[in-house]
Amino acid sequence: MTLTTPLPSVAPSPAMPARLFAAGPHADATLHAARFGPLPATTGLVATLRDSGLTGRGGGAFPVAAKIDALTGPPATIIGNGSEGEPLSRKDATLLHHAPHLVIDGLLLLAAALNPKARLVIVARPDGVDSVRHALRERADGRDIEVRVAEDRFVSGEATAVVAGLAGAPALPKDHPLHLTQRGVGRRPTLLFNVETLAHVALIGRYGAGWFRSLGTPEDPGTRLLSINGDGIGEHVLEVPGGTRIIDALTAVGANPDAVQAVLVGGFHGRWVPARHLTRSLTPRPAPDADGAPVGAGVILAIGVETCGLTVTGSILEYLAAESAGQCGPCVLGLPRLATRYAEHASGQEVDASRVWQLIETLPGRGACHHPDGTAALARSALTVFTAELDRHRAGTCCEGPHR
Ligand code: SF4
Repeated sequence: MTLTTPLPSVAPSPAMPARLFAAGPHADATLHAARFGPLPATTGLVATLRDSGLTGRGGGAFPVAAKIDALTGPPATIIGNGSEGEPLSRKDATLLHHAPHLVIDGLLLLAAALNPKARLVIVARPDGVDSVRHALRERADGRDIEVRVAEDRFVSGEATAVVAGLAGAPALPKDHPLHLTQRGVGRRPTLLFNVETLAHVALIGRYGAGWFRSLGTPEDPGTRLLSINGDGIGEHVLEVPGGTRIIDALTAVGANPDAVQAVLVGGFHGRWVPARHLTRSLTPRPAPDADGAPVGAGVILAIGVETCGLTVTGSILEYLAAESAGQCGPCVLGLPRLATRYAEHASGQEVDASRVWQLIETLPGRGACHHPDGTAALARSALTVFTAELDRHRAGTCCEGPHR
């Protein structure tokens, strides 16, 4: 299984109700205007966003209205973040490819409501940048929007990394004592939203909170985009209502659930869900009863019965160790050590589990960002879910065939 492939131009799957792609594929300004009409008035926009319950779609699921409320002054800069550092994520690039005007609309609406003089920036991967630039040339109201190319690193999509990049520094996370809504770009209040979040803002501004809540659940209203990849599935970007079950998302893209051994939900910092729990619902945050599957930035990776989840996880841990931004000791030293000890233990060579578990327990909370936390959580999840595979490795076999 290849984990880091070049970005393809993924077509949005039409299998579920489509809001974000309602103007059709490659929606230019004409198609966009025909489907959505002009920009709406911004009177009461923040209250409407609060009523809608919209949360950020970049992974943190922080309420959009609460982030706006946290501003200590008019935002001097408003950023649409399409950096998408997660290698398996295609949703932001796909959204920018097929519906760039919706993202631009959301950015302009927030600026009109909060500070018409704000600096406006969209940061995106290279193929997304081309689409945004083309869309901006098609309209007169986006001339002042800057477009920046995101650095191609796992941690460069983190909010403080994006702000660092805009300041001309390497796009790496920073340990900020203050939130960006207090001190961001130029040390002034800054709003940063994922580009999918902005597209939802554009729709909520037009159709209202009740319309947004008419899909999804009270806890996870509206829709969200998923990047779905895996054995025999290919790559898909799918729009689903909040609260969708994993199994329904998989079947919507043509996957056979009986051929699935497990899914990694939430991307490289996510958690493994075994096949017997595919009926779990996707949740915006970890559910208190551990019954749901936190969707993070919307990435789902499915592995078949002949793919070893321990080996896949080992590859991801090696990748994540190499993606450390090199700033914090526990991350720089700890993640390669974790990847090595995990590999020794998962292969069945090292039977003393305490060596890897000691790192899994002590690494979280010791970096400037959550990279060590997410990496340790992935290792924990794999060693908890793939216990039968662990036994097979110790016996010299594997679901992929002979082992060692
Ligand atoms: S924890 Fe790791 S990735 Fe995060 S800032 Fe520190 S060195 Fe960089």
